Amino acid sequence: MGRQIAIDGPAGAGKSTIARSLAKRLGYIYVDTGAMYRAMALYFLRKGILAEETERIEAACGEADVTIAFENGEQQVLLNGENVNGLIRTEAVGNMASASSVCLKVREKMTELQRKLAQEADVVMDGRDIGTFVLPQADVKIYLTASIEERARRRALEYEQKGITADIEQIAKDIAERDYRDMHREHAPLRQAEDAVLVDTSDMTIPQVEERLLELCKVPENGGKSDFFA
Ligand code: C5P
Repeated sequence: MGRQIAIDGPAGAGKSTIARSLAKRLGYIYVDTGAMYRAMALYFLRKGILAEETERIEAACGEADVTIAFENGEQQVLLNGENVNGLIRTEAVGNMASASSVCLKVREKMTELQRKLAQEADVVMDGRDIGTFVLPQADVKIYLTASIEERARRRALEYEQKGITADIEQIAKDIAERDYRDMHREHAPLRQAEDAVLVDTSDMTIPQVEERLLELCKVPENGGKSDFFA
C-alpha cells in the first residue's frame, strides 16, 4: 500500500487546485473523485434521467463503466471507454453529480474504484468522504474549507475569467444547497474526520495553503516512529 493523503471539504474550497499542486510536489498521483461522480452524472443526463429519479439512477448505474487513466500525470476519466474530461465541468453535470451521489449504488461503485487506485500508487485524493470512508487509514487527513462568501467569490471569478457573467448571490445559494445535500445525505456524508486537520483558506493565498499542506504531509525524519524509539 502506498502513502495516502486525503483532502475533503465543501464545494469551491480550492481542493482540486491545492491537491493537484501538492501531488506534483510530492511526486504522487492526484485522484479527483468528484470527476468520477461527474462522469456518472453525465451518463445519467445523456439518458435523459432527472436528478430526482432515484430509481432510474440506481437502475442505470450498472451500465456506466467509469475508469481512470493518467496522461502526463493528469487524471483522465473514461466513461464506457470515452474520454469525458472536457465534458464534465458544467453546472448541469455538477448539479446532477451532487444529486446522484446520494445513491448507495453509485457510491459503492465509486468507492471501489477509488480504493483500488490508492492500492496501486502514492495518492493525494480529494473529495467529500475520503478521510471518513474511502481511506480511513490515510496517512494524512486534511479538511479544507472557506466561508460561503469567499467560495462564491472565487467561483464567480473563475466564471468571469472564462467570459461568463456570474451572479454571485445565485452562486452562493447553489453552494449552500450543495453543502447541505453533501452534509446531510445518508451514505458517507461530508464531515471532518476526527483525525483530520482543519485548514480554513478564507484569508489565505494559494501559496500559503500550499505551504501549509506540504508541511502537514512531511514524512517525519524518524519515519513516523515515536521519539521514544528514535
Ligand atoms: O468536487 P466536485 O464538485 O467535482 O464533485 C461533484 C459532486 O460529487 C459533489 O457535489 C458531491 O456531491 C459528489 N462527490 C461525492 N463524494 C466525493 C466526491 C464528490 O459525493 N468523494
